Amino acid sequence: MDPFCDSSILEGAFYTTDNTMALYDAAPVVPGHSLIIPRRHVPDIIMLTDEEMLDMLETVKKIGPVIFSLYGDGSGSYDLTAQIGKYSGMTIEHLHMHFIPRRKDDDYQGSSDVYGQIEKAKRLGKEEYMNEVKRLREEMERQYGSKENGQ
Ligand SMILES: [Zn+2]
Repeated sequence: MDPFCDSSILEGAFYTTDNTMALYDAAPVVPGHSLIIPRRHVPDIIMLTDEEMLDMLETVKKIGPVIFSLYGDGSGSYDLTAQIGKYSGMTIEHLHMHFIPRRKDDDYQGSSDVYGQIEKAKRLGKEEYMNEVKRLREEMERQYGSKENGQ
């Protein structure tokens, strides 16, 4: 079983719907790096139902302002990327989109090279990780109210 099918992954979720979960990345390439993942095991976007596909994008729309208010620089910049298929560098064969907030002053200076750092990024300690998840959950609640926060 891949980690995204294991229910313990929801510990790192800061927003969930029936179809989708948004998690903080365990090894963020920049602060705020998050993942948008279908709850059903699907390796490829083209295998999603229309409802699941729409829900993933609605999740992007929902979490974007929350990530920006905690980690953004006011520019609204981000990379939204996915690796799909065996020659793409996909490591976990369960579809996931990376939401990578970008800042004018980040280490990648306006380049999409940030994506190449995913393999090298350092894994956060449990406490540090859960602290970020907590901040994101609180910001979700502040922006949308507790009912909208799936946790
Ligand atoms: Zn899976």
